[in-house]
Amino acid sequence: MENQHEQLASLDQKHFLHPTTSIKQQQATGPDFIFTKGKGVRLTDIKGRTVIDGMSSLWNVNIGHGREEIAQTAYEQMKTLGYSSCFATFSNEPAIQLAAKLAEIAPGNLSATFFTSGGSESNDTAYKLARHYWMLKGQPKRKKIISRSQSYHGVAVGATSATGLKPFRDFTNSLAPDFCYVDHFSPEALRQMIEREGPETVAAYIAEPVQGAGGLHIAPDGYFKEIRSICDEYGILFITDEVITGFGRTGTYFGVDHYGVAPDMMCFAKGVSSGYAQLGGVMISENMHNDFKQLSEGTLLHGYTYSGHPTACAVALKNLEILERENLINNARVMGEEMLKGFQKIQSLRSIVGDVRGLGLMGAVEIVKNKETKERFAEPFAPKVVAEAAKRGLICRSVVFDGQDTLVFAPPLVINSEEMNELISILNDAIEAVETGIPTAATQ
Ligand code: PMP
Repeated sequence: MENQHEQLASLDQKHFLHPTTSIKQQQATGPDFIFTKGKGVRLTDIKGRTVIDGMSSLWNVNIGHGREEIAQTAYEQMKTLGYSSCFATFSNEPAIQLAAKLAEIAPGNLSATFFTSGGSESNDTAYKLARHYWMLKGQPKRKKIISRSQSYHGVAVGATSATGLKPFRDFTNSLAPDFCYVDHFSPEALRQMIEREGPETVAAYIAEPVQGAGGLHIAPDGYFKEIRSICDEYGILFITDEVITGFGRTGTYFGVDHYGVAPDMMCFAKGVSSGYAQLGGVMISENMHNDFKQLSEGTLLHGYTYSGHPTACAVALKNLEILERENLINNARVMGEEMLKGFQKIQSLRSIVGDVRGLGLMGAVEIVKNKETKERFAEPFAPKVVAEAAKRGLICRSVVFDGQDTLVFAPPLVINSEEMNELISILNDAIEAVETGIPTAATQ
């Protein structure tokens, strides 16, 4: 197996340009884990090491790994109708059924879905549909999209341009126009920005209900209610990006369900299919849909080859059936409380753990040099914990943007108490090991 790992690692270094990866590091060390199997909350690599997937891979494998039922569904669908187009007058049953199911579970009166293959495409679609909508409504100057500091919306050109995290925007030296960034916790800042830019030029405001990739930031109480009323006051579309927070992740079906507000448009991806198929989409409200029905002329010139992919939609329908049948949204809430308690225990044990926070199965642990002053280490500490935890059997992620030094977690919604205790205990040991310089425990 060691030999097989090395052979594959060398091909990886030669031929595989990885997403969101340091090329220098890849060339120096090759991939650490070459995964071959997944079951429940665990992944196994080619060397036979098993780890807890504390991030549900990329916040997406909500129903856990290795679901035979999903494989069976994909097999049946591929055998019957693997793919057909949804352009023009063509449709297919899984896409229709999924769109109807989404209308049933989505917040407010979101009622119609445009399908994509993932979160970035969903974001670009939302901006284009919002601007097109204003053109149809006779307000073509409404082009600007306002997004928040610390936000992440993906890597397509539009989605990158909307992303508040500056390093992602700086990666490329030409962005799309008409994007503005506002402080993520201040409704007043949004009002001032709208006044400054001119309300007649603003198409939409977009927010993740809980910011994920930017360091897991939970908005202050009352934030979204105020945002909703500001958007209404200025006639601006309110878009939520539920790519991470959708489909049970935070202990409710959607993230905004915590805040008693509903958006005009909603981006989703990831948990809709738990990563078993590439799928995302944008939902629009019934009012918007009615306006489109009345005002739209000719062809809606936006569509991906895989919009409404029958196999992806069949997989998503089965995924949602499992989510409901196994009561996983409730489990996310209960286990989320246990995770937060575990973080609080670590906080009391370790002198370098500052703020801990979470909502459902999205959680964060901040590392500080000094708990009182909240001073950070000169060199980020969290990435060292991530490396140490991986050796000890836990995958998690660090966020170091804007001087943050944070560990983030999003285990599969199927996690049980025993597995949660294991996650917490490995995390505590990994922090202690890095803090005290104890050599890494022998790995499995
Ligand atoms: N929006 C949010 C909130 C996300 O977290 C992500 C991905 N992490 C995206 C959009 C982009 O999704 P994708 O990687 O599927 O394009």
